Amino acid sequence: MVEPGGSADPFFLGLYPACAAGIALLIRRRDEWRNGTALVDAATITIGFGLLAWVFVIEPAHGDIQMDRLAYGTQVAYPIGDLLLIAMMTRLVRGRGARGPALAAMVAALGALLVGDSSWVIMDNLGGAEKWLGLLPWLGRALESVFVTAFALFAVAALDPGAGRLAEPAQERSARLGPGLLALLTGASLIAPGLLAGQLHSGSVKNGWSIVLCSTTLFLLVVVRMAGLVREVERQARQVRDLARSDELTGLPNRRAWNDELPRALERARRDHQPVVVAIVDLDHFKRFNDTYGHPAGDRLLKAASAAWHETLRKADLLARYGGEEFVVLLPGSDAAHGHGALSRMLAATPQGQTFSAGLAVWDGQETSDELLQRADQALYLAKERGRNRIEMPAAA
Ligand code: GH3
Ligand code: MG
Ligand code: MG
Repeated sequence: MVEPGGSADPFFLGLYPACAAGIALLIRRRDEWRNGTALVDAATITIGFGLLAWVFVIEPAHGDIQMDRLAYGTQVAYPIGDLLLIAMMTRLVRGRGARGPALAAMVAALGALLVGDSSWVIMDNLGGAEKWLGLLPWLGRALESVFVTAFALFAVAALDPGAGRLAEPAQERSARLGPGLLALLTGASLIAPGLLAGQLHSGSVKNGWSIVLCSTTLFLLVVVRMAGLVREVERQARQVRDLARSDELTGLPNRRAWNDELPRALERARRDHQPVVVAIVDLDHFKRFNDTYGHPAGDRLLKAASAAWHETLRKADLLARYGGEEFVVLLPGSDAAHGHGALSRMLAATPQGQTFSAGLAVWDGQETSDELLQRADQALYLAKERGRNRIEMPAAA
């Protein structure tokens, strides 16, 4: 608070809405307003400090009968201005967008402004600013230099070569929850119980209801924040799981997904007394295709073939990339004839005149996934041996 009541007040007070409007413009360019995390963090910090302002400045000034309306308004306008800046600044810092020296200087400038303003509040609460300035002559100079530093830091921020980039929209995700921010959020949330403890200690709780209101709001904000974090973790876990189970090139389920799914499918088949067919598909002379048309063309063939084969299958069937140019097919509820038909349709759909060989095995109702797959693999070997471009089944045991 810069000496309330002076003729400089209108100028000083004009600083707050002007700064807030400037920061609002910056936020709008960098980020969308509906950034829930940033809003919750900004609200938490602002409400915590808002309670301090209420208890130590706004309410006491209201009870001061010696103060006229203008003096009261001026007295109260400073902490409200500070709160506005705290809210806007935390929203800006917590949101998306470029960081760098210019932003750091802006935050430091605001910090200096808040230190200066809070010093006045503390002096007022400890017997009046006049008393302290009289007692410690250097204090006035020290406080002035704090405000001068704040303005100088704003200038440094504006003159920084990177200042222009601060206003650019950024894809960068919101700032992470580092130890500093965590400490700030914790501190802001503990202001209300801290005040209550202080007032209980001094023997009279003067701001009980304000403290109740603030603690309740802060508590709800913490719950909202926690829910947001949990949702984010769940979303990322799903993303990681999907990535780990799908093949990058073809988008098909990969070997890991297949290894998970096959035993489950056999279990279902056992329960429902249904047959199951498994097949291994291997492109013929794919090395030659790569050598002739190049590796990228080979990649494109793998993609196109996967898509074409997938088209010929039913929803319940599973096509997975087992590795390289080898694919596996699971046909639940199919017998040998049906399975052979499905594989023939896949073979006919293979793009660019290419062919594959396939080994097909009908589950015997007893064997494990590995045993079943091994029989299909033996059949594939047979198909290659018998000239490729064909579908073979293991000889009956
Ligand atoms: P066969 O008819 O006996 O199966 O002969 P082949 O050439 O298809 O089999 P081989 O095992 O000799 O070669 C497989 C080739 O597949 C070799 C490898 O470079 C190629 N390959 C494996 N994975 C990929 C891939 O992701 N992209 C491309 N372009 N080629 C791959
Ligand atoms: Mg192969
Ligand atoms: Mg091959």
